[in-house]
Amino acid sequence: MSPEVETEALTRRGLMLVLSSPSGAGKTTISRALLKEDDNLVMSVSATTRPRRPGEQDGKDYFFVEPVDFNLMINRDELLEHAKVFSHYYGTPRGPVEDALSEGQDILFDIDWQGTQQLAHKARTDLVSVFILPPSTEALEKRLKTRAQDPAEVIDQRMSKAAEEISHWSEYDYVVINDDLDRCLAEVKAILTAERVRRTRRTGLIQFVSRLREGY
Ligand code: 5GP
Repeated sequence: MSPEVETEALTRRGLMLVLSSPSGAGKTTISRALLKEDDNLVMSVSATTRPRRPGEQDGKDYFFVEPVDFNLMINRDELLEHAKVFSHYYGTPRGPVEDALSEGQDILFDIDWQGTQQLAHKARTDLVSVFILPPSTEALEKRLKTRAQDPAEVIDQRMSKAAEEISHWSEYDYVVINDDLDRCLAEVKAILTAERVRRTRRTGLIQFVSRLREGY
């Protein structure tokens, strides 16, 4: 990389890549694959009042907090967005997101439509939102049942919530259908690649282009 190109790459502000879908549409698998393959992408770790599931780690999967502490975070304006999902509260801690963005790091968010709406109002130019649709209701139901981490009534609740989540698909910048995991992943990667070279994000280009022009 030439020094000019390197400088340009360093001065790009990070972007916020939001993935939303109903539970069971494959969002977690896609997120993990993206993070594994992309060095410049980090996951935003949300705070939640939901109890920890087996295998989940505090500080890695979520920050598991008591409702009273979640309220404190809201009152201190420490959350970029927050919402109630399936009778528990979830929210995005503000500090790590702002630090990462200013360091040019891109951030992946696994949040619901309510959180996406709030981010869209606050962080319009940084935000890239992607909605992942399941290929069919049957496929969604099957995936939710085979996950089997939650009791049957929770799965039923999630099925009925899925329709509500899906009704917000048209508020997103991009929509992908997860009928084939590899293709769906390739589409999300293509979105990220294109959004990274969007002119409006490339603040370092002004200097880079003026140096190029000096050469003529
Ligand atoms: P789960 O309990 O299965 O981990 O997540 C349930 C839902 O909460 C998912 O749809 C997930 O996208 C959403 N969620 C997780 N973290 C956040 C957050 O910080 N904000 C919002 N608005 N939704 C979240």
